[in-house]
Amino acid sequence: MSENILEISHLRKEYGNNAVIEDLSLSVREGEVVVIVGPSGCGKSTLLRCINALEDIQGGQILLRGETVSKDSKNLQAMRQKIGMVFQNYELFPHMTVLDNIMLAPMKVQRRNKREVKEEALALLERVGLENKADSLPRQLSGGQKQRTAIVRALCMHPDILLFDEVTAALDPEMVREVLEVILGLANQGKTMLVVTHEMQFAKAVADRIVFIDEGRICEEGSPEEFFGNPRTERARRFLNTFSFERKKRKDIDAF
Ligand code: ADP
Repeated sequence: MSENILEISHLRKEYGNNAVIEDLSLSVREGEVVVIVGPSGCGKSTLLRCINALEDIQGGQILLRGETVSKDSKNLQAMRQKIGMVFQNYELFPHMTVLDNIMLAPMKVQRRNKREVKEEALALLERVGLENKADSLPRQLSGGQKQRTAIVRALCMHPDILLFDEVTAALDPEMVREVLEVILGLANQGKTMLVVTHEMQFAKAVADRIVFIDEGRICEEGSPEEFFGNPRTERARRFLNTFSFERKKRKDIDAF
């Protein structure tokens, strides 16, 4: 059994008087891909933001390789380097080329050698099909290309775990696939990942384990086969039904 990279126990997160995460416990083992699904507003993004210490928490504990992750911890910057986060909106620097965006943190924060970082960045760009975009500015890229750049930027930091927050939500449908394929490729390489997505087919394909959250709590978790084939809770069944309804609606529209 591989070791737990991430261990969250009894996490509580409040905004004002509103508890958006309550008593949530979750572990992710080395090499595991855990996919988090749940209705909009149930706390998925907040959970990822807590793991990356972008939020302070009101209870419980988050451990990364046994070390506490906290907004107040002295080694916050060192902890953050171990957590690669990819956001919905890419967050690339608009005035910097693709290559410079990728090389910035490894050089400035990790103080790595420029030649070595450049070599790695170019190799990673090639792996995601962007070898001819190294000198482009973000505005010259499609949404899918920007998102693949953001993934390479996270990978180049050699994080212990990658967090993906709805990374295809802002993309046109034809670009969703190219980004999901990159993430599937990373899963096949054995990267440890925590993925929030609304793409249920992708969740089924990439996950070792599905975690279904509702109202800030884990409602159900299991293998993709268990969760999609035989959800145990009424809430999960209702949630999954909304997706089959959407699919049917789309088919009706297509037929029309
Ligand atoms: P999800 O990612 O599952 O859609 P979020 O984690 O974004 O959900 O949000 C969970 C809940 O927390 C929602 O009710 C949302 O309105 C609330 N929330 C998120 N961010 C803030 C904030 N900065 N201040 C106050 N409430 C917030």
